[in-house]
Amino acid sequence: MRPIRATTAATAAALAAAVALAAAPAARAGGGPGACYRALDARGVAWTHADRPGIDLGVEVEGPLGGVTYQAFSGKPLVLDCSLVVSLAEAGPYFVALGIDRVTFSSAYQVRNVRGTRRRSKHSFGLAIDVHTFHGPELGTVNVERDFEQGLGDAADCVGQPLTQGGAVLKRLECQLVASGLFDLVLNPDYDSDHYNHFHLQARRWRDRDELHAERRALYR
Ligand SMILES: [Zn+2]
Repeated sequence: MRPIRATTAATAAALAAAVALAAAPAARAGGGPGACYRALDARGVAWTHADRPGIDLGVEVEGPLGGVTYQAFSGKPLVLDCSLVVSLAEAGPYFVALGIDRVTFSSAYQVRNVRGTRRRSKHSFGLAIDVHTFHGPELGTVNVERDFEQGLGDAADCVGQPLTQGGAVLKRLECQLVASGLFDLVLNPDYDSDHYNHFHLQARRWRDRDELHAERRALYR
């Protein structure tokens, strides 16, 4: 895990907890769908089953995930594949360490193709979510469109030298999420112009997770 500079002792303590959590074995895919649902329960997630076309293990989220509340611009409930919900719940401490307790999202489960292709977007399977803004009592609001500083960081230093507090929070969070191994893909405005205003967070299907975790954990150990 690449260290992220902490600004306060409280942040450092929360970050240490997040790092410890990330270093622990992640939820295993072995045991089939039941193991995913049990992983939600073990992480204190309030949820119900939600059957949707295309979603393998459909879940409606009814409370915060790892200390973070997810609010839809549409006002609709959050429906995702169980696998992504487990990842978001495990990633919660990274958000909390940066003062974030609430986020807003646009697309979660939505049947559509990747723009300009005939390939189904992972949103079609409930395996991706587009997060736009991040909120906390001391943080205020940080907005990807307004605050993300493009072109930061490199292979040796993921965070780089952000110029603003909002830019620092977003880049630190993104680096943590990438390094965590909880996500198959994390896209930000550096990726392309379609992602100018959000982070796209994507997980693998539950039955495909173990392989990814083993690869990522070997890389960042
Ligand atoms: Zn997306």
